Amino acid sequence: MTIRAKLILSYITMVMIPVILILLVMRLVIPMFISSDPDFPKQGSRQFNMGITVHDQNRSRLFAQLSETAHRHPERFTDLHYLAALEEELTKLVLKTWLVVRIGERIFYISPGFSLAYDSELPEFGSYPQNKQITIGEQKFSLSQFDFLSQPEVAGSVFMFSDLTPLNKLSSNFLSLFIAVTVFVVMVTNGLLTFFISRSIIKPLYLLKRAAEQISTGDLDFIITYAKRNELGELANAFESMRSQLKDSLEKQEQYEINRKELISGISHDLKTPITAIKGYVEGIMDGVANTPEKLERYLLTIHRKASQLDRLIDELFLFSKLDLDRMPSHFETVDITSFLQDCLDELRFDLKDKKINLIYLPGAVSPIQVTADPEKLRRVMMNIIDNAIKYMGEEERCGQISINLHDRGEKVMVSMTDNGPGIREEDLPFIFDRFYRSDPARGSAVGGSGLGLAIAKLIITEHGGEIWAESQLGQGATICFTLPKACIPG
Ligand code: ADP
Repeated sequence: MTIRAKLILSYITMVMIPVILILLVMRLVIPMFISSDPDFPKQGSRQFNMGITVHDQNRSRLFAQLSETAHRHPERFTDLHYLAALEEELTKLVLKTWLVVRIGERIFYISPGFSLAYDSELPEFGSYPQNKQITIGEQKFSLSQFDFLSQPEVAGSVFMFSDLTPLNKLSSNFLSLFIAVTVFVVMVTNGLLTFFISRSIIKPLYLLKRAAEQISTGDLDFIITYAKRNELGELANAFESMRSQLKDSLEKQEQYEINRKELISGISHDLKTPITAIKGYVEGIMDGVANTPEKLERYLLTIHRKASQLDRLIDELFLFSKLDLDRMPSHFETVDITSFLQDCLDELRFDLKDKKINLIYLPGAVSPIQVTADPEKLRRVMMNIIDNAIKYMGEEERCGQISINLHDRGEKVMVSMTDNGPGIREEDLPFIFDRFYRSDPARGSAVGGSGLGLAIAKLIITEHGGEIWAESQLGQGATICFTLPKACIPG
């Protein structure tokens, strides 16, 4: 369940549970306050209304009896036996009640224990109040009157005084109890709900806190597992993916660092070797070792080749750093890739013939296919890939073959270059486009690459909005493929 749903549910529960509990408690507590009636709650006819009014079935019955007597047998109100029987009935009422019988102007009967300091203000014959609230001294009463005509035609009235004091007390007691019960129930409900809800939030938060502490100490070798499908579950997942990405990037960083250090030592070595050779040949000339014109020419040619190698290496480093720092602006134009590839390969063909490498171009697409590209940079990509193919083929395999294919892939074109050289180890494939990466066999070989050729190609192809990758199996040649988006030609 989501935290949002949980909170909404808990708010509803916080309101509902107190209401239900209060109603329940009140239902149980009220009878305690009105237990003066021995028949309660069997009769089930009594209602309690915030302690103000009590309807009593015995009282209703007595009322009916008194009005019937007043109509049919008024003489009974002068019968002391009958009045004693009525007193008996009065004891069954919820509220303590007294009777007063007035015949003519004279008070004929007053219930024992009731003193009436009020007789002159008793309602007149015919006023007939029912349950009227009156105050005598400090006390509150409910007054009801039943009129009758006694023999000989004398106006009589029966008054019923019911003491409302307990009812008022009940009312104030009930109010305090109601407040106490409400506060208690609200506190208990809120306490329990807060405990359960906060537990389900705090537990994962602690988990994340511990994970953050672990990450801050550099420990990334753990997995954050919190399987709940709610907002905190999503947060834990985001945290976990952050941790794993951080771990990956740290590992990559370490790998870069290793590569960089290796490159520095590699570059120093690569620079040192031609420089030492140049120095040796120059000294040879100066010492007169090249004493024939042929020898001198050979020495000079070697010096030139070594200097060119140095130049290329420095160029590559310079180009890479410019591309990497985004300091090499591109001059994009619409290029027909079919004829572009043809031109590139024509440039190479003569050189490759010398090296006994067969170059095959298979433009599998119908010409022309327009792409938006910087031709200079794209030529660089082609050269770097083909240079590698030549470089890694090895001297003894100089009946090599490089085939270039062009494929139309809808919105893209794909160029693939396959050689029949030694191929690339599967574990090296994901890394060969990384800067300074050189596979172990390449490092061990005499070809002396910089580890930048494919990284440069990747920077350029990515800048063109394409992708570059390699497919190979050790011993079965290598294929380097790249894609380029086609140019949008209006119309
Ligand atoms: P390098 O200057 O070392 O050639 P690259 O970035 O051009 O650097 O290539 C990275 C690595 O990929 C090379 O060191 C080599 O191991 C591998 N590689 C690239 N092209 C080929 C290929 N055609 N055949 C075999 N290995 C290759």
